[in-house]
Amino acid sequence: MTLLQVRGLTIQDRQGIALVDQLSMTLSAGDILGLVGESGSGKTLSCRAMMRLLPGEGLTISGGEILFNGTDLLTLNDKQMTAIRGREIGMIFQNPASHLNPVMTIGQQIAESRRLHFGASHREAHLQAVELLRQVGIPDPLRRVDNYPHEFSGGMRQRAMIAVALACEPKMLIADEPTTALDVTVQMQILRLLRDLRDRLGIAIILITHDLGVVAQTCDRIAVMYGGRLCETGDKRPVLAQAIHPYTRGLIDCQPVSEGGSGRLITLPGQPPVAARFPTGCRFHPRCANATAQCQRMQPAMQTGHGHVAACHHPLSGRENESSI
Ligand code: SF4
Repeated sequence: MTLLQVRGLTIQDRQGIALVDQLSMTLSAGDILGLVGESGSGKTLSCRAMMRLLPGEGLTISGGEILFNGTDLLTLNDKQMTAIRGREIGMIFQNPASHLNPVMTIGQQIAESRRLHFGASHREAHLQAVELLRQVGIPDPLRRVDNYPHEFSGGMRQRAMIAVALACEPKMLIADEPTTALDVTVQMQILRLLRDLRDRLGIAIILITHDLGVVAQTCDRIAVMYGGRLCETGDKRPVLAQAIHPYTRGLIDCQPVSEGGSGRLITLPGQPPVAARFPTGCRFHPRCANATAQCQRMQPAMQTGHGHVAACHHPLSGRENESSI
């Protein structure tokens, strides 16, 4: 069942530059979608738009629809949107320390949501907080529920923030680089936790990341963005095995190889574009080895290949390479 359908989402800055340009994507209930791209690709901005929380002044959603459970979120007033935010769509961030309240215990922060949204009594909300901490893998939750955020390690704070988000029983979770600040072992545990929550609770998750290794481990589907536009999207396996967009291919080739290989780390040449100087035509053309005059002139339309879709005038044939991730 389709839970989220974004159609033609466009976000402009005050100069009228499309920082996100005609983004379309879907998310089914219980799916994990990896939203991938370098800094400035528009992935976080797009998800902020889904929460109607655009950062900074002068950014506007100038076009498109964000259908959540069939309702266009862009047509809701502030009060209606507040009821959706947190309750239906939760969000977790890279740095939980700045999103947890330092002067409230972890338990109080979870219990507050239970009381507010579900009318739980103080005692019920406290017990539910303990249970949620247990569900996200906090050891000794009966004792830890009364700890403050600074008494938790980085990984435990991330688990606690997930518990706070889950307290509202959302249908969808947006996880914005939730493991970037964590060491590799804790990173694996948090990704496993997200998959486990999807399996047990059926929550749909958008996982924002710049790391294709994270996508390979965790996600069902992938959407790759560059310069505010969608490059390629589809089921994870065919996209990673047979990418047809040169940018997706470049990201795959940049992944470190754990075993075998030459040991040489390939990097994408050039820098991602800044909004004020988005190139004409395909925004990837200055960095693309396959670029032609057509690419410089015309924005490519989405086309299908190997069961997924990509926006490219000269899509690749899609050679097998899943073993490299
Ligand atoms: Fe490269 Fe052209 Fe495809 Fe853009 S449209 S990715 S420049 S080949």
